Amino acid sequence: MMNHIKSMTLPEMGEVLKAWGQPAFRAKQVFTWLHKGVGSYQEMTNLPQSLRQQLEESYPLYRPQVVRKQQSQKDGTIKYLWRLSDGNCVETVLMRYHYGNTVCISTEVGCAMGCAFCASTLGGLVRRLEPHEMLDQVLFTQIDSGLPVSHIVLMGIGEPLDNFDNVLRFLELVNSPDGMNISMRHISLSTCGLVPKIDKLAEHKLQLTLSVSLHAPTNEIRNTIMPVNKAYPVEALLAACRRYYEATGRRISFEYAMIHGVNDTEAAAKQLLQDLKGLPAHVNLIPLNHVEESPLKPSTRQAVQRFQQILEDGGVPATVRRTLGGDIDASCGQLRRKYTKQNT
Ligand code: SAH
Repeated sequence: MMNHIKSMTLPEMGEVLKAWGQPAFRAKQVFTWLHKGVGSYQEMTNLPQSLRQQLEESYPLYRPQVVRKQQSQKDGTIKYLWRLSDGNCVETVLMRYHYGNTVCISTEVGCAMGCAFCASTLGGLVRRLEPHEMLDQVLFTQIDSGLPVSHIVLMGIGEPLDNFDNVLRFLELVNSPDGMNISMRHISLSTCGLVPKIDKLAEHKLQLTLSVSLHAPTNEIRNTIMPVNKAYPVEALLAACRRYYEATGRRISFEYAMIHGVNDTEAAAKQLLQDLKGLPAHVNLIPLNHVEESPLKPSTRQAVQRFQQILEDGGVPATVRRTLGGDIDASCGQLRRKYTKQNT
């Protein structure tokens, strides 16, 4: 049983309230209020005062505090840095697309994966987030911005599959018809490629989109930028992606950050076509966001276009991701990194 009330499923909440002698319908009332993001049990006006008090004493609510909020002048992207109950900070980004508002949430404080181009991993992994801490990012971003959230991407700080059970529970919570009721089809989960966990996720047959951060078509290149590749090399990762597709019927989305002189050659594009043969896939080309601490540079626009053309000509749909929030450090971990550096 989860010890935080907001990490509980509706049946679990039912057990707690039943043990307190409450009628069965109370659990749904409490669950619904919590998933509306109420700041206090006193707002739960359809509950008896004594129950509100008992809840307050047993499960005090903490509301994450906004440490920084930055809004892009160009595209309306909003980035939040939240302070969690233990003082740690994580980032959430709200992006406005034509199809709806998307929140990009963090799943861990820091990250252990060590990708050479990523700011989130520079200080290592501090701890994993609890389910309610992921839910709160969605809830309070929606409340603070006043913008209804319809889509979620697990692409913020951390490796979601390294926090498997908590992430799965978060997905169940946010998908709940009595909660935010966000459809699995509106959720993307991004992983650097933890093969056994991809297989484990496939067993759940969720209708979410699995995004795989491939970033290189060969072990030779991938080893230099993603330490995880030494444990799970490209061919093992792609085999897991095929199994995932067979189990779920969901096309895989591959992330490919274009890094100047590293993974952006025509040969790399052709190799990628070979790799993806027979696998229903979509490739997202993302010009690298430059991270201060890293010598890696983004590819030129021409190199990105050429790469995209080769993939398209080879029958693999490829889009160049519009970079949102470039003026507000909106890529992975940059805001938390700056804040932590200033305050230590
Ligand atoms: N750990 C997960 C999810 C978080 S990172 C994963 O690796 O997929 C979300 C995406 O941003 C990943 O594709 C990651 O490789 C990418 N990314 C990280 N730093 C980046 C940078 N500086 N420029 C472009 N993409 C970056």
